[in-house]
Formats: sequence, C-alpha cells, structure tokens
Amino acid sequence: MTDSLALHPLQIPDCLHSVGPGWQPLLMRLHKQLKALASDYRVEDVKEKFGGLRVRVADRFDADGEFDGDWADASSPLIRAAEAMSQTICEFCGAQGQPRSRGDRDGGWIKTVCERCHPIRRPGAIPATFSPEEQCAIADHADELGLSVIQYIRQTAASKATQWQRERDGLHEIAERRGTTVEEMLQRGFLIDDTP
Ligand SMILES: [Zn+2]
Repeated sequence: MTDSLALHPLQIPDCLHSVGPGWQPLLMRLHKQLKALASDYRVEDVKEKFGGLRVRVADRFDADGEFDGDWADASSPLIRAAEAMSQTICEFCGAQGQPRSRGDRDGGWIKTVCERCHPIRRPGAIPATFSPEEQCAIADHADELGLSVIQYIRQTAASKATQWQRERDGLHEIAERRGTTVEEMLQRGFLIDDTP
C-alpha cells in the first residue's frame, strides 16, 4: 500500500465508471453497506468479468497488526451478494437482465444485458469498436426507427457525409458567384448568400 492510497482510500464511488451505468445503484448500495462496517474501507478492484460484477476490498488489520477477521467475515457475504445480483441486472441500463453472449459464438463476449440492450438479436451485430454505451444507444435508436443496426449505421454515415458534401458544394457555388474562394469567404466571415 502506498502512502497516498493510505491517505486517500479508494472507495466504490471512485470506481463507479469501471463498469456500466446499470450497475451503479447496486455498487452504491454495496458502498453504504461496507461503509457501515468500516467507514475507511478500501476497495482494490471493481470490474466486470464474464458478465458479472467483481469487487475486491483490501484486508484490514487492527492497531497491533492483527488481521481483522470480523471485517473479512462480514464484508464477503455482502460482496458475494452484490456480485450474484449483478448477473440479473443489465449492466448498460439497469433493467432486468441475464448473461448473454455475442452472436451464437461460445467463449467470446459475455455481458449481462436486458433484451433491449442485447444488440445481437438484431440482424447484423454492432461492431465491437463502439463502446458498450454507444452500442446500447445505437441499438436503441435503430430500434426506435425500425432499422437494423447495420442499416442504421449505413444511413447515419451516409446522411452525415452527404450533408457535409452539400454544404461544401453550396459554399463553393456561393464563392464562385462572388468571384472568390471558400477559404477567403470563411476568413472574412462572409457566409450569407446575398447574391440574387
Ligand atoms: Zn439494458
């Protein structure tokens, strides 16, 4: 243990973002329970593994350096209960969930998610380059629009690119009519098309 950690014990609220937002209420409940046992408890790790929450707290020792068995005995069941509970709660949105794998492949991605946040049930998986939160948002919005995620990503990219292209072409047209260039127009701040 470093001195700075001893002075500023890392507790659960410092590690909330190690896992998805759906588990944060569960973690805060555990934090209150642990704090009631030992207000200066220290957490060593908060993470997600195989679709479940994992929390590791530091051992405690009394003034004589004796291992605090009471803390270990009292804190473990609370931690185990929260970890077990996490496998029933969607890590992304907090709704009821269950561990699910990506696609039909075994041994890969396992996350505890609800039906809505499970991107794989839709035709076309969301590329893993998107963060879990982004995947969840994309899946939700695509659902709302009645599109598959692949259609959604295609259309979003296409509309953004064509919009940019239209704006660029429009500016070029204005610049041409004025006998100037887009760069010059932007520099002068002449962006209003006042040509007849
Ligand atoms: Zn969800």
